[in-house]
Amino acid sequence: MFNLNELVRPNIRDLVPYSSARDEFKGNARVYLDANENSLGSPLLKWYNRYPDPLQWAVKEKISAIKGVDPGHIFLGNGSDECIDVLIRTFCEPGMDNIVIVPPTYGMYEVSANINNVKVKKVPLTPDFQLDLPALEEAVDDFTKIIFLCSPNNPTGNSLERGAVEALLNNYFGLVVMDEAYINFSRQRSYVPDLAEFPNLVVLQTLSKAWGLAALRVGMAFASREIIEIMNKVKPPYNINQASQELALKALEEVEQVNEMIRVLVQERGRLEKELPSLSLVKKVYPSDANFLLVQVSDARKIYQYLLDNGIVVRDRSSVVLCNDCLRITVGTERENTELLEALKQFN
Ligand SMILES: *Cc1c(COP(=O)(O)O)cnc(C)c1O
Repeated sequence: MFNLNELVRPNIRDLVPYSSARDEFKGNARVYLDANENSLGSPLLKWYNRYPDPLQWAVKEKISAIKGVDPGHIFLGNGSDECIDVLIRTFCEPGMDNIVIVPPTYGMYEVSANINNVKVKKVPLTPDFQLDLPALEEAVDDFTKIIFLCSPNNPTGNSLERGAVEALLNNYFGLVVMDEAYINFSRQRSYVPDLAEFPNLVVLQTLSKAWGLAALRVGMAFASREIIEIMNKVKPPYNINQASQELALKALEEVEQVNEMIRVLVQERGRLEKELPSLSLVKKVYPSDANFLLVQVSDARKIYQYLLDNGIVVRDRSSVVLCNDCLRITVGTERENTELLEALKQFN
């Protein structure tokens, strides 16, 4: 059975978290002399002299309204990369525990584990980029604390089949982290509504992709109240700065505009999916639920360099398992995509 108390590192379970001035006094006062801030303010930006809300309640209320999730089930990180790091540090004992990843997939799970001296077990996806359940069952041991999944997956672009993911959620009693960085571009539905059913599920999303705010560094984790509370103990107290909180609040008002951008990008994805295969150098365009395409070409290294010489940078993924001669191409603006197609047409 899933038992959160047994899953979390003992030192984190017993941790007395840092208590900031903002944690200890939450009301409104006339005079704030509790946090050693500079009451005179900055000559540059007068109103940035106070520490920001450590738990970012205003931003969470907005996200809550959009996603239909109670604010107590939301954790915000300095990018979802911080959510990944906090999850590993919360649950994995360095030098003892391990995580399972399913390559080809997003690189930060492994890097974050390596930084924390946590072992990484790799269970490659099947050739059609789906979960290999028997191999996963084989790989998981008593020290496996987290399985990281990504759907739509980076760099392959496809979604994982729901049946296999649910089988994992039902039969594995560690945490299953479902990274949904690209969910807004997907035909499949999010796992966020499934949180009530699966106490071992953590869903990651971000403002970096569909919301167009990679520079703000705001990532979200959705999970049970208990998991969120433990993550809050581990994170740096002020992990989302005031400017990012203010701008995120503003951006979250613009759901309609964001949906329109998503529509344009998905349409452009369709155009690239349709036009790329007619080029002789293109061997295969993998179906995508994301804002990028995995494209197998005749000679990835050469074509990567050729595009670069023409001022166009894509990602060479040819050294990645199951991605021989593959480039990962982000869907750009209409003009950028046309430039890409024109350049590829000129290649010989
Ligand atoms: C881009 C990406 C992220 C990064 O998110 P940040 O919120 O910018 O840190 C996370 N997961 C996947 C799969 C990504 O491709």
